[in-house]
Amino acid sequence: MCEDIQNAYLKIIQQVGEDPQREGLRDTPQRAAKAMQYLTRGYQQTLDEVTNNAVFSSDSDEMVLVQGIELYSLCEHHLLPFIGKCHIAYLPSGKVLGLSKFARIVDMYSRRLQIQENLTREIALAVEQVTHAQGVAVVIEAQHMCMMMRGVEKQSSSMRTSALLGAFRDSSKTRAEFFALLK
Ligand code: ZN
Repeated sequence: MCEDIQNAYLKIIQQVGEDPQREGLRDTPQRAAKAMQYLTRGYQQTLDEVTNNAVFSSDSDEMVLVQGIELYSLCEHHLLPFIGKCHIAYLPSGKVLGLSKFARIVDMYSRRLQIQENLTREIALAVEQVTHAQGVAVVIEAQHMCMMMRGVEKQSSSMRTSALLGAFRDSSKTRAEFFALLK
């Protein structure tokens, strides 16, 4: 599989008008293929693996907020990066998830070809599935290279998406508490 990706990159380098034998480019197809595999490694992971043994019993039913998880993904329309921050809140119902696992969930879904809207929802559904929480809220703020480097070149624009499940959807009070905490 890696060799196919290498050959594809070799063709791209030729087609943009470069000489793939030039010293600086000679190993580029191989390096780029490796990088692409790394940036899409989320396809090789499962939710079970990344949350393995990190769900704990707890009596707390207070809102848990994990804020500012770094996020690096590739947009599925242009294969260009979008980068930003992800904030996750949930209302436990008997189970809590180890802190580091939120970052791993974000990572697993980010390291795929994505659009921000779906990524936001996939993370929320994953947290719900793992914790059986009463509610889950996810907000992502990200900047898209396909906006910043090409097309309209709007360099300071960012996009904000949210996914609200359970109590965050049904209760305006819970929702308000979440957005107040985020500020
Ligand atoms: Zn794009």
